[in-house]
Amino acid sequence: MLLKLLALGYPIDEVIFFKIGVDFNCININAEKMKKILKDKGIQFTILEPKDPFIWCMTEKPVAKRDGTHQCGYKWCGGCTRWGTTLKLDAIKENNKKYGDEMIVEYVGIAADERHRIDRKRNGNRVKLYPLVEWGMTEKDCLEYCYSQGWHWNEEGYELYDLLDRVSCKYCNNKNLKELRNIYHFLPNVWQELKELQDKIQMPFRGDKTIHDLETRFISEDSQMTIEEFLKEV
Ligand code: SF4
Repeated sequence: MLLKLLALGYPIDEVIFFKIGVDFNCININAEKMKKILKDKGIQFTILEPKDPFIWCMTEKPVAKRDGTHQCGYKWCGGCTRWGTTLKLDAIKENNKKYGDEMIVEYVGIAADERHRIDRKRNGNRVKLYPLVEWGMTEKDCLEYCYSQGWHWNEEGYELYDLLDRVSCKYCNNKNLKELRNIYHFLPNVWQELKELQDKIQMPFRGDKTIHDLETRFISEDSQMTIEEFLKEV
């Protein structure tokens, strides 16, 4: 969305990058690349970070439970417990305070095939615009546009969108089985980090399965598959 907004000359005062602290490396590399482009165009590039470190919130932060006791951390983020989204929204809200009562027009990168996520409600002095929806660009169109402009998400030698349906946070538990299987096979460092986090988090990662259960499953699958079958799945 940002690339096309720039190409079409839409007015932009500030670009916000929320650095959540658990991003894939390629996200930070691309942010640096964009930072230079924006600097040349005289557009402010603002990096926001969560008030408390993501991993601390996930594994250690004392969190009050309904029964009056406390648990360590919010645990995995995703599904209906997207506490990481709250960290992001809080940081943006804080950043917006510098604009006082001025009207803020936000461009939101929701694609034409995810219209159900659109929120047209006006929120105080904030108005949201959805350029990708207006241009009729689906998620697939957007990815093709990025590739055609020389933008890639290269992680440990792999194009991340070949491995994942969505590039979310590294440890997002919205990941489906195919994505987890690909992380296990192709991004061993991330898989190792997931295992180490699982040792600290008393909550399964997917359904009733922990990361260790999933690893057992993938090892078992590998021992049953032929190479040809495996390559077909990738
Ligand atoms: S992408 Fe996943 S882990 Fe990251 S904030 Fe959103 S729900 Fe949480």
